[in-house]
Amino acid sequence: MNLVLFGPPGAGKGTQAKKLVADRGWLQLSTGDMLRAAIAAETELGLKVKDIMARGDLVSDDIVIALIEERLGDAERAGGAIFDGFPRTVAQAEALDTLLNERGAPIGKVIRLVVNQAELVDRMEKRAAEEGRADDTVEAFKKRLDNYNAQTAPLIPYYESQGKLADVDGMGGIDEVAARISTALDG
Ligand code: AMP
Repeated sequence: MNLVLFGPPGAGKGTQAKKLVADRGWLQLSTGDMLRAAIAAETELGLKVKDIMARGDLVSDDIVIALIEERLGDAERAGGAIFDGFPRTVAQAEALDTLLNERGAPIGKVIRLVVNQAELVDRMEKRAAEEGRADDTVEAFKKRLDNYNAQTAPLIPYYESQGKLADVDGMGGIDEVAARISTALDG
């Protein structure tokens, strides 16, 4: 099954994607992780996106769509993909639908993790201390939230109209949220 984990920065998408990999064997496809790996390896792509990411802006649709497309074969072999942090714009969602429909393996479900803003900021501050991400600063995080509201939130009606959207309460402990996601997937 192909699954989109959806939600604002700090909602727990990466954490829950890793739980799903362990539980179900699907492949996590995180465009953020792919871009951070490119930055760490100092590739041409990494150099191109480094400053954009550090200030909390979105990189271009073409770049992330190409990164995802490269991995769809691997996802198919794993029995499904968990899209984490992708799509983030309507153009990305449309491109993903086209790519997956061509492969006869459309998105099965979109899980939206619902977390209040105070908790998002708390989680970002905790992650800043633990991981030292360049975009976990107050300023960049505000930009990421603004970009989420302006460019990514329009995907909510997009997937709602396809009948694929399931809201899951993302507040509370990791295992508690994982159990709710399981219920949304199987229940
Ligand atoms: P994430 O790890 O998902 O929070 O992503 C970190 C940063 O990578 C974002 O703030 C963007 O700069 C960039 N990024 C990741 N995924 C995307 C995407 N689907 N579209 C555009 N930019 C992205």
